[in-house]
Amino acid sequence: HPLLSVVGSRLNAPLIHGGQVRYANLDYAASTPAAEDVAEHLAQILPYYASVHRGAGFASQVSTSVYENARHIVASFVGARPDDTVIFTRNTTDSLNLLANCVREQLTGKHCASGTSADSGEVLYLDIEHHANLLPWQSMAHRSVVAGGSIAATLARVETQLRAGNVVLLAVTGASNVTGEVLPVAELATLAHHYGARIVLDAAQLAPHRRIDMVHDGIDYLAFSGHKLYAPFGAGVLVGRSDWLDAGTPYLAGGGAVNDVRLESVRWAEGPARHEAGSPNVLGAATLARATQVLAGLDAEKWHTHEQQLRARLVEGLSSIEGITVHQMFDDSDTYPGCGTIGVVNFSIAGYDSGLAAAYLSAEHGVGVRDGKFCAHPLLRRLGLAAGSLRASFGVGSCVEDADRLIEGVKALLGEGLGADYVIDAGRWVP
Ligand code: PMP
Repeated sequence: HPLLSVVGSRLNAPLIHGGQVRYANLDYAASTPAAEDVAEHLAQILPYYASVHRGAGFASQVSTSVYENARHIVASFVGARPDDTVIFTRNTTDSLNLLANCVREQLTGKHCASGTSADSGEVLYLDIEHHANLLPWQSMAHRSVVAGGSIAATLARVETQLRAGNVVLLAVTGASNVTGEVLPVAELATLAHHYGARIVLDAAQLAPHRRIDMVHDGIDYLAFSGHKLYAPFGAGVLVGRSDWLDAGTPYLAGGGAVNDVRLESVRWAEGPARHEAGSPNVLGAATLARATQVLAGLDAEKWHTHEQQLRARLVEGLSSIEGITVHQMFDDSDTYPGCGTIGVVNFSIAGYDSGLAAAYLSAEHGVGVRDGKFCAHPLLRRLGLAAGSLRASFGVGSCVEDADRLIEGVKALLGEGLGADYVIDAGRWVP
């Protein structure tokens, strides 16, 4: 059974060879369907949809309060410090780029809030990162860490780089979007702080699967997206220490981000407004916040068990098929305290291009998986998967039937092949 009702759970997928079948969505790691509760909330607030702030009208006041309240809800969801800033952005990518702009200024000494300057340091990141948590830092990093074959080895490598000095920020993912393996966030934070650095957590994959507590885990900055957390597209969040954020020049200049503007000068606002120029995405923020409440309301034990059972069933089913390889980065992710894997399974089918296999699984079995390089080229290359692989991912709306359909689909592909009805035309599959 699914753990929660999600929109579209009765969606039927058309099959090329006959009829339709309930769509088996195994692509939650890319974007989740909205929780039904979130969709209802959207319908409730839609009539009050108005521009926020500076509006005295009733709808504007309601909208403003919904928007500002969303900040508090999100702050509570991630266990933020009382004086942390919560900025609504477009998505995780936007959040990390925003922070990177502020950090870049700290590094070049352009804006040094007293006592907080990160002057002349650098940013350290791992080679397992999604491009969203790699490319913004690339120009500020002279060293990156190649993860080891185990979590323990990876921590040792991170420490070696931190010990070498000059690192002001460690940028890490909470859970890999490629393999689903979870990193020891609190331990990484302790290491970073020990060597005088801060930590930013890319929680795009972790937040939809595990509880996060910024204070307890020592996370300085955190980013995630609404569309991977049972809310619609268009809103993400950056939460974290206000000093660097209040010192950074907004990369989006415009209305609402200022205290005072003269023809030749500007005094930027402080707090979230500084980085939220223009009319904000009230509905996006409100639905994202609502989704965090839905997740916070889940029984953690049941949530974890649901996901682990589905994942175990799929891993076991796929591993028992000759020609299937399931990929992981670490050999100790199941045993390392507090780590494990979120509901993601990465695999390859011998002899089949991943794009071709994904197209077949969709068209013949109504199964939606993702294929390719998952915006993590350095990691895929290191894992020997430069041509890409397949990823199945679960969420609260997933059920056993979804996992079984994928297993059956893969067996059918390996057993019968694509058949004479299919031709491969310039790397594309044509029925
Ligand atoms: N980080 C990770 C780990 C992700 O999985 C993703 C999305 N695939 C992102 C960052 C980027 O998220 P968004 O596309 O919402 O900006």
